[in-house]
Amino acid sequence: TTRPGQRPREVATHCPYCALQCGMTLRTDGAAVTVAPRQFPTNRGGLCQKGWTAAELLDHPERLTTPLLRDPATGELRPATWDAVLARITDGVRAAQRGHGRDAVAVFGGGGLTNEKAYALGKFARVALRTRHIDYNGRFCMSSAAAAGMRAFGVDRGLPFPLADLGRADTLLLVGANPAETMPPLVRWLTEQRERGGKLIVVDPRVTATARLADLHLQPLPGTDLAVANALLHVALTEGWVDKEYVDARTTGFEAVRRNVAGWWPARAEALSGVPVADLEATARALGTAGRAIILTARGAEQHAKGVDTVTGFVNLALALGLPGRPGSGYGCLTGQGNGQGGREHGQKADQLPGYRKIDDPAARAHVAGVWGVPADELPGPGVPAYQLLDALGTDGGPRALLVFGSNPVVSAPRAARVESRLRDLDLLVVADFLLSETAALADVVLPTAQWAEEDGTMTNLEGRVLRRTALRPPPAGVRTDLEILAALAERLGGPAARQRFPTDPATVFGELRRASAGGLADYAGISWERVETSDGAFWPCPDADGPDSPRMFTDRFATPDGLARFHPVEHRPAAEEVCARYPLHFTTGRVLAQYQSGTQTRRVAALRRAAPEAFVELHPDLAHRLGVGDGEPVRVVSRRGEFRAPARLSPAIRPDTVFAPFHWGGAARANSVTNDAVDPVSGMPEFKICAVRVEKV
Ligand code: SF4
Repeated sequence: TTRPGQRPREVATHCPYCALQCGMTLRTDGAAVTVAPRQFPTNRGGLCQKGWTAAELLDHPERLTTPLLRDPATGELRPATWDAVLARITDGVRAAQRGHGRDAVAVFGGGGLTNEKAYALGKFARVALRTRHIDYNGRFCMSSAAAAGMRAFGVDRGLPFPLADLGRADTLLLVGANPAETMPPLVRWLTEQRERGGKLIVVDPRVTATARLADLHLQPLPGTDLAVANALLHVALTEGWVDKEYVDARTTGFEAVRRNVAGWWPARAEALSGVPVADLEATARALGTAGRAIILTARGAEQHAKGVDTVTGFVNLALALGLPGRPGSGYGCLTGQGNGQGGREHGQKADQLPGYRKIDDPAARAHVAGVWGVPADELPGPGVPAYQLLDALGTDGGPRALLVFGSNPVVSAPRAARVESRLRDLDLLVVADFLLSETAALADVVLPTAQWAEEDGTMTNLEGRVLRRTALRPPPAGVRTDLEILAALAERLGGPAARQRFPTDPATVFGELRRASAGGLADYAGISWERVETSDGAFWPCPDADGPDSPRMFTDRFATPDGLARFHPVEHRPAAEEVCARYPLHFTTGRVLAQYQSGTQTRRVAALRRAAPEAFVELHPDLAHRLGVGDGEPVRVVSRRGEFRAPARLSPAIRPDTVFAPFHWGGAARANSVTNDAVDPVSGMPEFKICAVRVEKV
């Protein structure tokens, strides 16, 4: 990518995409920007195709460099000045709040925002807008694992141990995780694990690239992972593999779980999931007799209306086997988005304040209000989770205006046609992004923002490791950073004093974030940018600048008041929507190697578009034969909520009773047009991974 007039420069930074946050070097010779992999503990010199091509978007012809304002006469988005768009937003916000109260304005953030931006956005919602309505797209990502971790361990950190532990595990169980496609450099750890003689077991309804690496692949019906988890613990109990000493010393509540899983004979789990008893027993044996074992979950286990209970089933198993807190052992969640972890720690979630504090906790409110310099009783209370928020937009009593930063819910939300119609019902939709996403295309105002290589900041990766992202060059003329946008809006809404509360320098924001997080679960007080730069990052909690950080958690206590982990009995329940004569097939969604999330960025990168040019519907050849569909022929997938079309891709990798499609595309190929908006009652996670459909030949 080129921009004339740049000065030659080289910076050590990290990939803009997923939570592995691979280390990379960005260089410019004064004209072109190039990417090179960099040795870092997570990627060890590797990058995937997405990382290698990340600089292509910096000077992409579709890059937004001018604010856009919808012309009421023509209905089209037209270039406008910053003054005009900021005035339009201010007027819209004031009108909505004057007519309908403070909660008539909502904010929707993203898991790709830096820690500084996530923090500033949460503060902006609560202090500048004084609305309770803020949530973010990470709710659609790992919120079920977050909730399960909170209730079992008292804290939620994706991996409570360094990634390097994966290579040391004698048995590694991956549940609903496909890192070979989503974060390929992570496979190096899986390879190392197997070269050391370890056993890799994968639970997935599809024969994914990761499942092909496994020594054993369990291929359950979507939505039955919890039955598998309970059966594994049943076998561990009957075979005497439960670590009684650990359970007695480090946990509480096991007796209820023991009674619950007593009824989960492997044959019962087989009847539900289709996983043979022999495979369940072999998996339990591999875990129960291993010196070191790790259980990891990802979206396949988590994106269900029972996602929290499903993850809890595997947490119960890990605790019963005495794994958490031991080197090369434990339970963890593979967080997906680049800052999915940091994005949920600093106040973007409806129920949280910075430091992973509960917003309804008086002490937490007092602490954060003190840092923000506002009375605690002026801070709004908890809002509602992402889908509930999106579904209320424009309705009676719901928000009338929405500000979206770095997210594309028109493609990524469940039941997306309904979400799209809710967005259209708003009085004001503002989208800050650097490309015209499907959501931005609906907006009244589009704000062009800086990209990852154009601003400093920090990210927190899937290990809870805080990393430094370093700017290579300034943003192009006409573009502002999110921090600058928030400061300008705060000033327009509240005058110069309000402006002072929103610094635009990321280092200053991080300093404030450290104070706000101090004493919280995700304590960054001892983490400085200098420390992060000179030591391959630093793991939270890290309360003291002169003290150690926390690569490995739970070594002697959990983050609960009494230091003990909690067991919770969890019971399988059917999917929110079951197959029937009219919709006889299970539908599940996922990702492909060359695309990322809603595809706003990766669909515009030439090499990635060549590698994965369009959506597809994966069908088992037997099912395709029954439907009379050939490979590559267009099909329509129909659910009770909508439909989408894409070419069929015939593959024995999928169960004959299940259909798969990636969710990276919008328009007529939008897989989320059919997904179910049933949500987990604890986490608010929608049920992306299973609904009932029929497939028709077009
Ligand atoms: Fe970027 Fe993730 Fe690929 Fe690494 S694995 S290069 S962080 S997208």
